[in-house]
Amino acid sequence: MFQSQLFTKTRREAPKDEVAKNAQLLIRAGYIHKEMAGSYSYLPLGRRVLENIENIVREEMNAIGGQEVRMATLHPAEPWKQTGAWDKVDVVFKINSRTEKEYTVGQSEEEIITPIAKEYVQSYKDLPVAIYQIGQKYRDELRAKSGIMRGREFTMKDMYSFDETHEDFDRFYAIAKEAYLKIYDRIGLVAKATEASGGSFTEKLSYEFMVLTDAGEDDILYCDDCSYCVNVEITKENEGDVCTRCGKGKIARAKASEVGNIFDLGTKYARDFGFTYMDKAGKEATPIMGCFGIGITRLMGVAVEALADQKGIVWPETVAPFRVHLLNLSVGDEDADQTTRMLYDELTGKGIAVLCDDRAFVRAGEKFTDSDLIGIPHRVVISKKTITEGKYEYKKRTDTDARMLYKEELLNLL
Ligand code: ATP
Ligand code: MG
Repeated sequence: MFQSQLFTKTRREAPKDEVAKNAQLLIRAGYIHKEMAGSYSYLPLGRRVLENIENIVREEMNAIGGQEVRMATLHPAEPWKQTGAWDKVDVVFKINSRTEKEYTVGQSEEEIITPIAKEYVQSYKDLPVAIYQIGQKYRDELRAKSGIMRGREFTMKDMYSFDETHEDFDRFYAIAKEAYLKIYDRIGLVAKATEASGGSFTEKLSYEFMVLTDAGEDDILYCDDCSYCVNVEITKENEGDVCTRCGKGKIARAKASEVGNIFDLGTKYARDFGFTYMDKAGKEATPIMGCFGIGITRLMGVAVEALADQKGIVWPETVAPFRVHLLNLSVGDEDADQTTRMLYDELTGKGIAVLCDDRAFVRAGEKFTDSDLIGIPHRVVISKKTITEGKYEYKKRTDTDARMLYKEELLNLL
């Protein structure tokens, strides 16, 4: 992609009412556009980042047997009344049509998937199943001040599992937990599986996956030695205590953001919709349901919050919109243009995504500033000077100093 043709430009200032660092940087760098508090459009660079996150999540969900669907987001009110959510869940948007019908938009989709599963699952032979989607969710959130970390519209991966027995569910739950940790790891974030109360449906613990960041809205306690971690809201432990789990580490306190959670829903929704199946003994039984959420857009915001520096965004390799930012500082100089074009073709030919800053009449300083703001992991600079030396200037976004490399060395590195 050539930056001279990129639809967006960087800008000095973010909107005045934008207080969150993630949104300020993403708006200034041209990843997103703010429509109102809690609602953002994703522009070419932003969409590429989302797609990378989504693909990692998709791969890991497919690997544990998840089947992808795309459920409707515009829903009739009836199933939501049937489960009680219409009156009890305060974030549910309620829409009146001109024909005086009531609708809602998906804020989670148990109300949609359970009736679908009821249609296709008749016998124990049809279980287990795990159905997921990656799509938009809508919530009437009171506070939407955390940029893309808390939207009134946002992207979520939501998976719903149906099992015969609690033992089967527990087995899948453990597998899903590992898949979640792998996803965060691949995205380049350290997430802790936090034990939280299971809510109103079950006695069992649920897991919230937390990434440490001061921009987070949750407070957690965690062991500095083992993997033990709990939400402050539910626990009697205190900062500085010796860890009750390993007996070695000390309990520390931190701000964190919830980037996913997995939940045992028991038989709540199956009962609401009269969903039963024929078990092995030929008797009617109720399936055990679980839900598994990941905040896709929140993850993007958390990555910005957790990794950005003074100069701008720092993307992890796996989610960056491009792998290499190739800056031509001598646009118009025949040698520089040709060398840039050759390297661009060579890298893209190897399947490496390159953003090439080929803008004429933009000063070198501005190109460097923009590159730091946009946050692509590897920067390669070509200018009359580098050509005279027969080398390329290379810098990782996180390095302080650039290095001069021969082409071979550069290609090996990338
Ligand atoms: P929170 O406590 O942060 O409001 P939640 O408990 O309501 O989250 P779920 O309903 O389980 O979250 O949604 C699954 C995941 O979707 C969350 O773990 C989070 O990563 C993400 N998420 C939830 N609400 C929002 C939101 N308003 N904007 C962006 N992402 C969200
Ligand atoms: Mg919420």
